[in-house]
Amino acid sequence: MRLANKVALITGGGAGIGRATALRFAQEGAQVVVVDIDDAGGEATVEAVQRQGGRARYVHADVARAADCAAMVEAAERAFGKLNVLFNNAGIMHSQDGDAVNTDEAVWDLTMAVNLKGVYLGCKYGIPALRRAGGGSIINTASFVALVGAATPQLAYTASKGGVLALTRELAVVHARENIRVNALCPGPLRTELLMRFLDSEAKRQRRLVHIPMGRFGEADEIAQAALYLASDESSYVTGTEFRVDGGLTAAYVTPE
Ligand code: NAD
Repeated sequence: MRLANKVALITGGGAGIGRATALRFAQEGAQVVVVDIDDAGGEATVEAVQRQGGRARYVHADVARAADCAAMVEAAERAFGKLNVLFNNAGIMHSQDGDAVNTDEAVWDLTMAVNLKGVYLGCKYGIPALRRAGGGSIINTASFVALVGAATPQLAYTASKGGVLALTRELAVVHARENIRVNALCPGPLRTELLMRFLDSEAKRQRRLVHIPMGRFGEADEIAQAALYLASDESSYVTGTEFRVDGGLTAAYVTPE
């Protein structure tokens, strides 16, 4: 088992990448703390983990709130005795996120609060717990949009994910000698609720597919496999990376149709 005796906390564990990762981590022996604001989704993930014979707990926490982040880490240590893996994965893509001219300040602020401040707060309260465990692995979900400009504008989202990459690099350097590794995960466009809600017409989906050499959206489970590698000791010399799982998107030069 690749995560035997590890305790992992996954934010945004109630759907998409977070749920797929909770299932994958548990299959590899991890005890999983599923964090979300969607209680039904979070509980459903825990039930799915338990159905396959794994151990998991649900904790309600809004990653944009410091007190919630402190409480989720405390809950993990209380439930399973320690924390080894912190997957800062919760994120939003607001339907009103657009270009600089038409994006409201409120949309900008909310997106930054969840996608960027949420990662900072996860680290603020999670790093002391990882230290108590003798080290660990932090994985922050960024996106391919932090590396290339997206053709469908989502400025607040893109900027927030760029922040996640910068923050990840610095944390990786600062904590390298404490046996804490910090990597960003850059998924390409996935067939999850988050993106399908945003690309809400066939024309918009096709527009995005043009840029993907593999010609298809990725699956949440394909990101979970990468998270598993970054969480496990197999990646013991890997830190500070922008780990791309994007069907070749960021490697490609494709003329838009
Ligand atoms: P999703 O919408 O399927 O799941 C996200 C989960 O996060 C939901 O359960 C939601 O309730 C939860 N969440 C939202 N706000 C929260 C908050 N404030 N506190 C706690 N939980 C909160 O999305 P997904 O596709 O699984 O996305 C997961 C991560 O991957 C996000 O950070 C997203 O930006 C990133 N990502 C997604 C794609 C994609 O194409 N889907 C691509 C690149 C990056």
